[in-house]
Amino acid sequence: MRIEKCYFCSSNCYPGHGNMFVRNDGKSFRFCRSKCHKNFKMKRNPRKVRWTKAFRKSAGKEMTIDSTFEFEKRRNIPVRYDRNLVATTVKVMKRVQEIRAKRERKFFQTRMSGNKEHDRNFNIRDVQQNINLLPKEAEQIKKALEKVTNSSVQNKKEESREMED
Ligand SMILES: [Zn+2]
Repeated sequence: MRIEKCYFCSSNCYPGHGNMFVRNDGKSFRFCRSKCHKNFKMKRNPRKVRWTKAFRKSAGKEMTIDSTFEFEKRRNIPVRYDRNLVATTVKVMKRVQEIRAKRERKFFQTRMSGNKEHDRNFNIRDVQQNINLLPKEAEQIKKALEKVTNSSVQNKKEESREMED
């Protein structure tokens, strides 16, 4: 049994699911659901549609270069059945999956590592703009905000000084 990849979103196409379009030049396109088929008929480029795997990969949002992808390649030469080979393959599949999950987690963490400062600034601005929604605590929050903003300004000054040094 071969599990094909959807031409548009690159998700799995199990046998009996989705549909297949064969162009008159012989190239076949598999689609996991009508959503992907419709988008294809609209002549959309999967690399420009944000919810597809192709977009995420081309935009650097997902791990693309890794040795664990070498195992999942299309092989068109059939292998003679061998009980030991099957047993080791199953074992290796589990292990490779573990390693890939670990590396993907690390990739995600490094990708998101630069967002802390941005999130902090966004939260401060959010509270400043909507402070009238909290009339009771407004005074306390204002004081706290002043502290926070002052400290962040000081930090920035120190950082710039360090950069100059
Ligand atoms: Zn699809």
